[in-house]
Amino acid sequence: MLDSNCIFCKIINHEIPSKLIYDDNDFMAILDVAPATKGHVLILPKEHAATLIDLSDDKASKILVLAKKIIAAMIKVHGFNNYNIVQNNGKLAGQTVDHLHLHLIPRYSIDEVGLWTPHENDPSVTDELAKKVHDLIQN
Ligand code: 5GP
Ligand code: ZN
Repeated sequence: MLDSNCIFCKIINHEIPSKLIYDDNDFMAILDVAPATKGHVLILPKEHAATLIDLSDDKASKILVLAKKIIAAMIKVHGFNNYNIVQNNGKLAGQTVDHLHLHLIPRYSIDEVGLWTPHENDPSVTDELAKKVHDLIQN
């Protein structure tokens, strides 16, 4: 189901042009219009889901297999060896388009992509959080 107010749904519906990399019944992959690095690709599921937990299990289980396939082709064409697969969920996480998408970002020896800065670990907090999440999903 597409959302008529969503820019990625409009791309999927061919109302907005894009540089197509891949297309099937479930997904479209396109070049990012403002790439983090040369060759930056976006994979868009052809169902409107804002974030990962909104996406169907079927599409969620297929999207990483497709990412492997596309990355393998990009490596052959571009010749890079390193890459990031990024998926932002929500404004605070850097999501600017509320239609779930995977970023496939080639990395080169000199680029300006920054991800996060590591901080000191506080085991008294993180151990308790880990236990609570574990208990919720495993018991
Ligand atoms: P987000 O910040 O939501 O994780 O990523 C959104 C991405 O979509 C950004 O990298 C941005 O450059 C890209 N983008 C936004 N609008 C368009 C568009 O109309 N066409 C294409 N190809 N990419 C877009
Ligand atoms: Zn959408």
